[in-house]
Amino acid sequence: MMDKHWFQGKHVLVLGLAKSGYHAALLLLKLGAHVTVNDAKDITHTEEARHLMQKNVDIVSGGHPRSLMERSWDYVVKNPGIPYHNPLVQEAQKQGIPVVTEIELASFVCKGEIVAITGTNGKTTTTTLIYHMLKEGNCHPHLAGNIGLVASDVAKNVKEDEVMVTEVSSFQLKGTQFFHPKTAILLNISDAHLDYHGTREDYEMSKAKIFQRMTAKDTIIYNADDPAVSRLVKDAKGKLLPFSLAKKINNGGYKENGAFYFQGKKVMEIEEVSLPGAHNEENMLAAICASLLHGASLSSIQQVLRTFQGVEHRLQYVGNVAGRKVYNDSKATNIESTEKALTAFSDPIVLIGGGLNRGVDFSPLIPSLAHVKAAVFYGETKEQLKATAVKANVPRVKTTETLEEAVKEAFSYSTKGDIVLLSPACASWDQFNTFEERGKTFIHAVQQLAGS
Ligand code: ADP
Repeated sequence: MMDKHWFQGKHVLVLGLAKSGYHAALLLLKLGAHVTVNDAKDITHTEEARHLMQKNVDIVSGGHPRSLMERSWDYVVKNPGIPYHNPLVQEAQKQGIPVVTEIELASFVCKGEIVAITGTNGKTTTTTLIYHMLKEGNCHPHLAGNIGLVASDVAKNVKEDEVMVTEVSSFQLKGTQFFHPKTAILLNISDAHLDYHGTREDYEMSKAKIFQRMTAKDTIIYNADDPAVSRLVKDAKGKLLPFSLAKKINNGGYKENGAFYFQGKKVMEIEEVSLPGAHNEENMLAAICASLLHGASLSSIQQVLRTFQGVEHRLQYVGNVAGRKVYNDSKATNIESTEKALTAFSDPIVLIGGGLNRGVDFSPLIPSLAHVKAAVFYGETKEQLKATAVKANVPRVKTTETLEEAVKEAFSYSTKGDIVLLSPACASWDQFNTFEERGKTFIHAVQQLAGS
């Protein structure tokens, strides 16, 4: 079995810098490796590259030169975003050089147990919920994942009696061989990232890698309502712990008569929880199962579910402004996410949407636009979205150039008791660098309006 000692004195090529490559390189140095980082972009002026150079890391950037593979490498550590058809990865595989992913590297140094969460949607929310529940229950969790907390940075601080709660994407899982969580959660699987994976089968098999090292001592928490998930866990070796919103499951988590239950015991009434939406019920139920399994008390779980306002930019409750409840769902960069947001509320919604034009057909949004009382669209897709909302008979539809203008218009269309929701259904890159920047701009515009 590969472990952290394998890197002592070895020559390791880290492919792709970003945050994940940077922390992987630092960890490899700590483990005694000689490290080279290669990135397609010129990274020599970044703070991270400079810091690594001071530590004698060799930086090769501005392309992926094939000649790099003429040097002799013991390992290649791959940033999750780099596809397996990258020529250097292909060459490494041809030469029989192990291609390790950053999450696997993290797992070699993590002394405590790992709770790993995967699925097409809901990873960050569920991971964050579990972290808060375990923290409230004094179970010493550490949080890692796609929220600026890189697993290989977090893992080295995890002690034996502690636990690392981390989300893992299919990109991270695809190349793993030894990753072995104590508890794995599979939330849902739908078509996604087919540009990276090529086929649905490859995507599913990558997700299933989360189970490959599990034994009967480990637990697999899975969504029994999702046929693809149920199919994938069938052959897995871990103990199965199903959860369902649709049916009573005696040996797992379920919803019955408007309350969450775990193995026959009531956890809490759903009307007491603060996160809106059926999709979040799925995330909460998964989090309840994992947190109870790892020692959190019912009361700490209840406390978190009562107060948790959502992860930033994911149907995050911003506040009450002049009687309107404002939500920031800037992470909703596709139609499916916006559908979830629109169906999460029973009060009338004033929707703000729009962004990068990828040429998608927005008509699947029509049914969920039904209880939208007004919509304001901005950005590259504003006209397409306006046409969709008109088709859905949304009573008032307007377009603006910027998000700030859209916020003003949305408030002018809204009355007390309404939901004002940013859920763009598009990527942010026409006007913003990231969805986080878009969400912050939204919150700032709302705060300015609230101030005036
Ligand atoms: P991920 O980390 O998997 O991208 P997030 O927790 O960041 O997931 O949520 C991103 C978006 O995905 C949310 O804004 C919501 O629209 C949608 N979503 C969250 N949880 C679920 C779920 N369980 N099922 C379907 N969609 C979900």
